[in-house]
Amino acid sequence: MPVRFRPAILLYVAAVVVLALVTGFALRYVLDGGHGRSAAGSGISPGPTSLAGRVIVLDPGHDGGNSGAGAAINRQVPAGGFDKECDTVGAETNAGYPEHAFTFDLAQRAAVLLRARGATVRLTRATDTGVGPCVDERARIGNDAGAAAVVSIHADGGPPTGRGFHVIAPALSPDRENAAILAPSSLLAGTLRSAFGRATGQPLADYLGVEGMTIRSDLGGLNLSRVPKVFLECGNMRNQADAALLVDPTWRARAAAGIADGLTAYLLGATSTPAAPAS
Ligand SMILES: [Zn+2]
Repeated sequence: MPVRFRPAILLYVAAVVVLALVTGFALRYVLDGGHGRSAAGSGISPGPTSLAGRVIVLDPGHDGGNSGAGAAINRQVPAGGFDKECDTVGAETNAGYPEHAFTFDLAQRAAVLLRARGATVRLTRATDTGVGPCVDERARIGNDAGAAAVVSIHADGGPPTGRGFHVIAPALSPDRENAAILAPSSLLAGTLRSAFGRATGQPLADYLGVEGMTIRSDLGGLNLSRVPKVFLECGNMRNQADAALLVDPTWRARAAAGIADGLTAYLLGATSTPAAPAS
């Protein structure tokens, strides 16, 4: 039997809906500190419990002890259908600021922001003075944590004339074991690319990839992941303009906000255009 609505009831329902919407927006504005800033420009303003119950793993690339531990980091480990070195020393700026220090600082900054939004955040290493962990162990940490998303943080050592940032999304690994993460990782890559670019003003890499994106099957950290994961190459340490940003703590604070906003937007479902498939 059809329900009959009276105009007065419809008006009342409409008023309640409008009130709820207004209250929701006001609450979000207050939780956001009144800045009106949204995660990745997505319309989502993260509050202190926005990411409650979500597990995020941040993987600061390389480690401070790698350069003095050649045998340990050159050891071959499984990388998803082939073997590869445990880890590498990483890049550095011409003035000697090392990638491992950059990635560790940035991961810690992003962790603070994400924890303030309620997320459980784990880093793949607790110090910047150790060796490794190896790429297979880094992947295992994300898998064992049951992470909703993993971002491996890096800075490139590219040609001095090339600048900009790029995101690396997984292609199907040679052992074909990472098939289930390709689609969500592509989404994460596109969302992170948008948020990071917006937060930092950093241009998309002009020396590789397509529109700030590469898709690779040679990285153990992506091949062995069973949870959505991407690499973020924040800039080119060998480029003068990029290096000036990477060494700047103020810029790193913006970069951390970009990472946190990208992960927040991804986890709350406000995503941007997925990364284009490999061509
Ligand atoms: Zn790196």
